[in-house]
Amino acid sequence: MASSPKIFQVISGAPGVRGSRVTILTKDSLNLIDFMESIIFKTQKVGENEHEPFYVLDLGVVASLYDKWIQSLPMVHPFYAVKCNPEPALLGALAALGSNFDCASRAEIEAVLALGVSSDRIIYANPCKAVSHIKYAASVGVNLTTFDSREELDKIRKWHPKCALLIRVKGPDDSGARSPLGAKYGALEDEVEPLLQASQAAQLNVTGVSFHIGSGAMKLHAYRGAIAAAKEVFDTAARLGMPKLRVLNIGGGFTADPYFDEAVSVVKSSLQTHFAIVPGLSIMSEPGRFFAESAFTLAANIIGKRVRGDLREYWINDGIYGSMNCIVNDNATVTCMPLTSSSKVSKNYSSTVFGPTCDAFDTILKGHQLPELRVSDWLVFPKMGAYAASTGSRFNGFDTGAISTYLAYSNPS
Ligand SMILES: *Cc1c(COP(=O)(O)O)cnc(C)c1O
Repeated sequence: MASSPKIFQVISGAPGVRGSRVTILTKDSLNLIDFMESIIFKTQKVGENEHEPFYVLDLGVVASLYDKWIQSLPMVHPFYAVKCNPEPALLGALAALGSNFDCASRAEIEAVLALGVSSDRIIYANPCKAVSHIKYAASVGVNLTTFDSREELDKIRKWHPKCALLIRVKGPDDSGARSPLGAKYGALEDEVEPLLQASQAAQLNVTGVSFHIGSGAMKLHAYRGAIAAAKEVFDTAARLGMPKLRVLNIGGGFTADPYFDEAVSVVKSSLQTHFAIVPGLSIMSEPGRFFAESAFTLAANIIGKRVRGDLREYWINDGIYGSMNCIVNDNATVTCMPLTSSSKVSKNYSSTVFGPTCDAFDTILKGHQLPELRVSDWLVFPKMGAYAASTGSRFNGFDTGAISTYLAYSNPS
């Protein structure tokens, strides 16, 4: 499906994509590396953005991941978590493919609405929201949110009482995640009943349960425990005489290969065990990393070099305060290779790659094997789409938000 011309039409006409050039990549004629070289060539020729770092977003990857999701979990509606990467072309492509959205702030809601997505395709999935943002959500008709405290219920009762609510619960185990979330969010087991009672007393409309097992989850049995815990909340609500819960939100945590198939089978079997008999159940999820991570490739330019014996040290124009912030915030492991391996010299050097700011902490890779490179050569960083550019800063005057993104569409086949 992802490779069909029809899907390409849908994506190239999507909001956020329409009007931008989308370069088609094929294995035999123009591959990703050729495309990056052509971008560099062009920027040098016109003298614009010369040597500046840039991203390539491969929308063909997004299309095939979306297809993979729909094939694997047809009963689970994806709500893409915008915070992972809010690039408009990514949001627009996902919207055109049929995805819904998980927004955590007023600005994220605005970004999604600006693409022409209707407000009933948005969940405001931040359990702790500022009053001004709640009022905004109410004013634009975003009518689904999450909570895990009484204080949140008080705010919602006051400012958005018609909003449907999912109680966010803490899954039993998120210790295996790259970015665990359980320390911050999710009602504990013994908090669930009092919170449901409080929502009843406030005449608020709790319609279901959500959880997040942690981002970049490795211990996939966490889905099993969390789905079982969610079912207990359904039972508690029934015991309290509340209207029947009917929404289960299994959150994010999904990665593309190699763990996805395993996650799918754990989720499916747990749903079968605990939710097969719940009538009219609507299941949703909030994948971020799954759609974004592998779709983006970063190119950064070597702006400085130092030789110390056998050690090679390079400075590049993106770093820990920019895209590589994912190393800190997401425990990511980044890797890079030279853009051109034209010289077939076999000798590699142990190399350090520094970011551009004047902070020694701004060190991207150490002991990385690279051939001898020169100032103004390029390094390519694959899989830089998740929690990377979106978390970068303008520290020292290096503006992560100014990094350009070029669009490509590869045909998987
Ligand atoms: C960050 C976040 C997500 C996305 O998580 P991934 O692991 O990237 O899929 C989904 N839901 C909520 C509530 C989040 O905070």
